Amino acid sequence: MRPIRRGLSPTGNETYSTYQSAKSDLIYKFSSGWHNERHIASYCSYCERKIVTNLAVEHIQPKDGYFGHPELELTWSNFLLSCVNCNSTKGAKEILFYNLFLPDRDNTFYAFEYTADGMIKPRDTLSSTNKARANNTLKLLGLNKETYATKDNLIALNRRSQRINIWGIAEIALEDYKSGFTVPAVKNQIVTNMVANGFFSVWMTVFDKYPEMKNLFIDAIHGTRESGCFDNQGNCIVSHPNEDQLDGGGKIWDNNTFLKNVRDFDIF
Ligand SMILES: [Zn+2]
Repeated sequence: MRPIRRGLSPTGNETYSTYQSAKSDLIYKFSSGWHNERHIASYCSYCERKIVTNLAVEHIQPKDGYFGHPELELTWSNFLLSCVNCNSTKGAKEILFYNLFLPDRDNTFYAFEYTADGMIKPRDTLSSTNKARANNTLKLLGLNKETYATKDNLIALNRRSQRINIWGIAEIALEDYKSGFTVPAVKNQIVTNMVANGFFSVWMTVFDKYPEMKNLFIDAIHGTRESGCFDNQGNCIVSHPNEDQLDGGGKIWDNNTFLKNVRDFDIF
């Protein structure tokens, strides 16, 4: 899951008149795929797929329901962007920041591993507590759920099968890179392909041994470099710096010190 930094609202105000009116600012700050000075696509903050229509302003803390926080309905720092599947699976469930990894406050690229069979799993090196957090996040969003299209809901394509497809496209691109890595047009075409297809983490995984390409991918989607989660080789810096000081953010992975920066207490 691509980590981001939301930063301050471009309007200078933390509150919007309607949450829908924040959408273009949110896309600009952390979801716009750019290449060669062109905006090409926007993505779901959770499943990373490109969203052509119905990209929705997502309330991290639900705005209504039993676990709702209506006071955060119009609040910039409570917004992400999500697709219909992630949005409907997450619904109005309770959000406990200490129990989850979220892309605006945790290094969600480090937390998960993507595999060629389309699955997402907690990274092997995580502690058992952090694996539980990663699994909670996958379950909250249904990221490994099998969802099939029906005639009434064609957008509800299985996110796992989409990842398998993109993995194949990324492997073809990797072959092109290996045979033509000195040719600028080859790199240009690969970045265009990544931006146009989405699934940032799949591309980062397939190109794991190639820092040059990982850096191009990181710089191609707004908010990713700004997250502070990657070094200049495109490798993970283990903890999200959480410069926006979001609740429960900046969890670190060392078993002995992972409580640092987690403001919730009395949880283990
Ligand atoms: Zn999604």
